[in-house]
Amino acid sequence: MATRCRSFRRLRVDERLELTSERVKRYARQIVLREVGRGGQEQLMAGCVAIAGNNDAAAVARTYLAASGVGTIVVAGAPRDVREALAAVNPDVAVFEIDAIPSGPEVAVAIDASFAAEWARTALDKCVRTGPWLHLGGAATGGHLRLERGEFVRCATCSAEASRGAGSPSLAMALGAAAATLASKIILGVGHIPFGRVCQFDRFGIPTRDDNGPGA
Ligand SMILES: [Zn+2]
Repeated sequence: MATRCRSFRRLRVDERLELTSERVKRYARQIVLREVGRGGQEQLMAGCVAIAGNNDAAAVARTYLAASGVGTIVVAGAPRDVREALAAVNPDVAVFEIDAIPSGPEVAVAIDASFAAEWARTALDKCVRTGPWLHLGGAATGGHLRLERGEFVRCATCSAEASRGAGSPSLAMALGAAAATLASKIILGVGHIPFGRVCQFDRFGIPTRDDNGPGA
């Protein structure tokens, strides 16, 4: 269950969350999807995702979430110009540093795109203790994406290997895009959401297989 920090009322009544005709046009390709529709788009606009990481995979995840209209993105470890970068993608997205969340949004999912850095876990813990968590891991041979509910258990491979981040740009793109898509699906509550699974990608970002997570 998502952790509710404090009230999110101030942002909920914000005019950013109205599905105006301009926004219907902006999100048209998404609204036509049976799984999304107008109601789903409003859910995305009211949704909040926290992302930790300062790398290509984190940037891709933030960009995809902003483009799909997720209304609030909480960042940790992001570059200084993250607000401007996301405003260029979608001016409606509110971006907050994790240490400066004004009234405590209800974070739907936390994405650890730091490749298992301890600072990211500490930062995300402030907002989300019990998940859902989305974790990206990487090594020279490829990467993985893991989705968990409840307390986050570190991967055996991630704790054994030094965190190397996503190697190739195509792997970073694949991991970031997959993380953003799963986060949107969690907000919408649609489709297959592989909790407790580890999705493996090769070094070029091609999905190779699914394994049971460490809690299985
Ligand atoms: Zn891992």
